[in-house]
Amino acid sequence: MARKVGFSVFLFPDSVGQMSFANKLLSISTRPSDTFAAKNEVEINKMSERYDLIDIGINLAHRSFQEDREAVIQRALDAGVTTMIITGTNQVRSQEAQRIASGHPTHLFATVGVHPHYSRDCNADTIPELKRLAALSQVVAIGECGLDFNRDFSPRPQQEKWFEAQVALAEELQKPLFLHERDASQRFTEILLAVRKSVPAVVHCFTGSREALKTYLDMGLHIGITGWICDERRGQSLRQLVREIPLDRLMVETDAPFLVPRSMPTRPKDGRNEPCYLPFVLEAVADCLGKPCVEVANTTTATARDFFRIKKPS
Ligand SMILES: [Zn+2]
Repeated sequence: MARKVGFSVFLFPDSVGQMSFANKLLSISTRPSDTFAAKNEVEINKMSERYDLIDIGINLAHRSFQEDREAVIQRALDAGVTTMIITGTNQVRSQEAQRIASGHPTHLFATVGVHPHYSRDCNADTIPELKRLAALSQVVAIGECGLDFNRDFSPRPQQEKWFEAQVALAEELQKPLFLHERDASQRFTEILLAVRKSVPAVVHCFTGSREALKTYLDMGLHIGITGWICDERRGQSLRQLVREIPLDRLMVETDAPFLVPRSMPTRPKDGRNEPCYLPFVLEAVADCLGKPCVEVANTTTATARDFFRIKKPS
């Protein structure tokens, strides 16, 4: 979840907006002449013929997907995003992520955890509850957890306490970690070095400095790249840094409904990102690396399957 720092601060209305692109892909278009729909459909269809992608961070339990979640999932599958990992950001959304994933056991998986913004709500029941959820089907990682000193929605000591507890839980359960870090790389690193022993970990939606990237790579961490890289202004530094990430440590994600890729020919009017737009992130990464999209797709997908221990859907 990157809402607090996204270039498009996501203010999705409570009622779900017009999604003509969605309808178009489902062949139930109510506005067949819509240029936005037509353009993006062509782009995504062109891409999806070649790629098999995994969206490692999709907030499908977010309220903005409440009304049309099944259609969102279907559009992603149609766009070649054959596997999605639903992010758990607090206790309730972690339950919800697991519940949604268990309805699509071949394609959907979930993480369970508490985002640093919500660490103020944690209590003695939190870790036992995450442990209970982690044992259920489809749960592949602990998170998202970490530190966010950018907005400080929860006091820093609480963020640190519950981050440590979740890293320890991942170690106890031997589950990978799905991590969030914003303006907190020093304490984040110290805590990981102190508590993490052997579990794999991915820093999702990386937007940090060269120094932070080097530290994370030296610690053996994986890096998740979102549509931030498609932003011609704020993504400048990331576009350079991505070249320093070994391809087998790199994974792609939308972090939808946040962070609509700015490289889309026409962006959704309601500002909601969807997993079916993941090919735009992939294309931007491939462009920065100077590698064919298909190679980056194959490698990042293989890395994600290996990292989250997910079998290829048959
Ligand atoms: Zn996040």
